[in-house]
Amino acid sequence: MTDTPTQLFIGGAWVDAADGATMAVDDPATGEILCQVADAGPKDAKLAEEAAVQAQQDWARTAPRVRSEILRRAYEIIVERTDELARLMTSEMGKPLAEARGEVAYAAEFFRWFSEEAVRIDGGCATLPDGRNRMLLSRRPVGPCLLITPWNFPLAMGTRKIGPALAAGCTMVLKPAPQTPLSSLALAAILKEAGLPDGVLNVVTTSRAGEVCEPLLRGGRIRKLSFTGSTAVGQLLLAQSAQAVVRTSMELGGNAPFVVFEDADLDKAVDGAMVAKMRNMGEACTAANRFFVHRSVAEEFGRRLAGRMGALVVGPGARDGVDVGPLIDRRGRAKVEELVADAVERGAQVLVGGRTPEGPGNFYPPTVLADVDPGSRLMDTEIFGPVAAILTFDDEDEVIRRANDTPWGLVGYVFTEGLDRALRVSERLEVGMVGLNTGLVSNPAAPFGGVKQSGLGREGGRVGIDEFLEYQYLAVPVR
Ligand code: NAD
Repeated sequence: MTDTPTQLFIGGAWVDAADGATMAVDDPATGEILCQVADAGPKDAKLAEEAAVQAQQDWARTAPRVRSEILRRAYEIIVERTDELARLMTSEMGKPLAEARGEVAYAAEFFRWFSEEAVRIDGGCATLPDGRNRMLLSRRPVGPCLLITPWNFPLAMGTRKIGPALAAGCTMVLKPAPQTPLSSLALAAILKEAGLPDGVLNVVTTSRAGEVCEPLLRGGRIRKLSFTGSTAVGQLLLAQSAQAVVRTSMELGGNAPFVVFEDADLDKAVDGAMVAKMRNMGEACTAANRFFVHRSVAEEFGRRLAGRMGALVVGPGARDGVDVGPLIDRRGRAKVEELVADAVERGAQVLVGGRTPEGPGNFYPPTVLADVDPGSRLMDTEIFGPVAAILTFDDEDEVIRRANDTPWGLVGYVFTEGLDRALRVSERLEVGMVGLNTGLVSNPAAPFGGVKQSGLGREGGRVGIDEFLEYQYLAVPVR
């Protein structure tokens, strides 16, 4: 987008970083610099925090219907500008245009959903058991929030947090990932156009995340942190949040098991695998990381999956007909290469892919590995790339034990035609979400989130707004 803002958004104004610093945004398909954006430092973050704090009381008192209508209007603008936003996202993040359009629709839907939730925040009134006291229960916005988002879904990870925060009556400072600041800046411009009052949303783009965020978390004025990103950074931020007892929501990494039983419909399983593995080039927290396939169908499953993966077209996301774009950066690609090399050294067979192409851009081919040794590093590391690692199993108890043998618990996928088994296995998986004969779980109307080291809290669904609300109980004697 030619008119995409590149400055910080503070108190409703577009401003440069106080020290004039800028940072480059790269195109992962070419390695070339797309543009420079403002690179905020701690001073800018403090100004953004101040703007959010100043706007908090008025925004909390703004009628829920007004908050709802701003979100609804922003939803409509996003949908109207789908193509423009998709192109912007592809340019900074790399995903194919069709996927970027899909993400725009998904992102917009969080605003529509939470525009509907803004007017349904409930409370309660009851006579307490002693008969002498009443309880009036109301729900209040938690206060100014810090929202930190990753690069892999640059628009949707923003709207999934901004939507419920606005609906609940919270103000906020958004810090997007340095690789993909443009989608967040475009989103801020859309919310301004939709009528969002100054200071309610502030956006600080920065390459100095730690310096910018830590003082806000320790300072006591930010009351809520909502973070999506890696478990390692999440753990650090939880520790920083402890000092001022900041409420936290954490959407962290995953290590999803994808289990194919001997009674699975293999057509469904391969279709599901393509989505669970290849959505976003494998750069998704929900990406299937470990394929456990029953020994009796493993060869057939591997052959079919390799056929489908090998037929995908790899190239720049903006080019027609491309299915698989580049990975986000050189570091991301190097990690995938190392994980594949380690698995192959331990005896994995490469059914397709596995070779980094020559030339510019961070491309890596769709890859299927069979007979993967359980001791391989990719078993306990998020691959974050287009690599499917297949292991075999013999019985149900064994596969459940192996699937659960990880510190993460975001999502699992189960493929079986048996109803009893489907329910039994799903209930025994230690995960926040299960895809049953499907490779896609994300939906704005459903609670998204994990257990164990995959996070705390849920985003989306009826419960998504709870993360931004506190209860207040009023004791009123019966007289
Ligand atoms: P990351 O943890 O490196 O970065 C995430 C965000 O945190 C970025 O905005 C980054 O700038 C910021 N950050 C980094 N260090 C920080 C610090 N010291 N203080 C404050 N902020 C800091 O993760 P990433 O590489 O951008 O994203 C990939 C990760 O995100 C994967 O682990 C993936 O599983 C996870 N993810 C999870 C979900 C989910 O909903 N569970 C969704 C998408 C991505």
